[in-house]
Amino acid sequence: MIAALRDLGAVLITGGAGYIGSHTAWACLDAGLRVVILDNLSTGVRHAAPPKAVFVEGAVEDRDLVHEVIRTYEVGAVLHFAASTIVEESMVDPDKYHRNNTLNSFRLMEAIASLGGMPFILSSTAAVYAPSPQGRLTESASVDPVSPYGLSKLRAEQLLAGTASVFGFPYLAMRYFNVAGADPLGRTGPSARSATHLLKVAVQAALGLRPTLPIHGRSHDTPDGACVRDYIHVSDLAQAHVHALAHLAGGGASGVVNCGTGRGASVLEVVAALEAELGRALPTTNAAARLGDVAYAVADETKLRQLLPDWTPRYEDLGLIVRSALAWERHMLAHAAI
Ligand code: UDP
Repeated sequence: MIAALRDLGAVLITGGAGYIGSHTAWACLDAGLRVVILDNLSTGVRHAAPPKAVFVEGAVEDRDLVHEVIRTYEVGAVLHFAASTIVEESMVDPDKYHRNNTLNSFRLMEAIASLGGMPFILSSTAAVYAPSPQGRLTESASVDPVSPYGLSKLRAEQLLAGTASVFGFPYLAMRYFNVAGADPLGRTGPSARSATHLLKVAVQAALGLRPTLPIHGRSHDTPDGACVRDYIHVSDLAQAHVHALAHLAGGGASGVVNCGTGRGASVLEVVAALEAELGRALPTTNAAARLGDVAYAVADETKLRQLLPDWTPRYEDLGLIVRSALAWERHMLAHAAI
């Protein structure tokens, strides 16, 4: 076990039955930590939570429940993933995003603060940044979210910074770029029924679960006209959370940090990587650009590497990301869990 984690007690993972949360739960267990998951199963699925984790069904904004869980399981740190995460949905139902991502996160922070505070890691997003011309985004790039989703997360970040400074506990807000792929050991993956993220939709099209992959927008201001994103493998990101916990438990600095690879791939390049893996063409159609989509979002990940010097991403290659996503969808299909 990483030395700084030895005295941490259990970690509370909200949203641990969701995509990134379940991968992080596995990564924490693999690192020798005890894990307690709090999830209301609104989008998460019960079987995504690792069997060795304690599972509590409930709401992050339920202060009494949070207090009971923390006391019962001797929780020493919080990883807060539970959130609504679809940019386009946030454009049509912004209230849901402000309620779930800002207000309910704040209630969780208050519950933690009222117990004296503890290391707190917030899932945040690159969607907090103002759209930028091509170029990698550092943490000091201007923040001005295009979508209510980005705004709801930015507000949560700000509330966390304020609460943590008043109550004196360490925190990191981790700004995820595009998270993709599935656990290479096949223990979890993107399990939600509804699929809006590129690779999940693409893999479903590849397996005949949907007729085609719509390519949203071909005339963006990018080299091939398709949107460019920075795809980070979910297991690398999960492992980064373990190191982030160690960073905070070891007295490391609080703040915001980008989580990406520093490399961009366009929608067409993702399609090409999947086609190379499949050995055949993917059915695609050109579709209108999506509401709230920025053309280009790639991380400058210098700070991440400085903060977490012992973290070594293992699956940065797009081919590995695509392969694990495909394997997971085939697994889902074989188990008729879709
Ligand atoms: N995208 C696409 N077809 C799809 C889903 C996504 O062309 O069926 C594009 C989307 O417009 C964006 C990129 O893929 O440019 C990544 O979208 P995703 O939903 O995966 O993540 P986001 O960047 O919106 O968080």
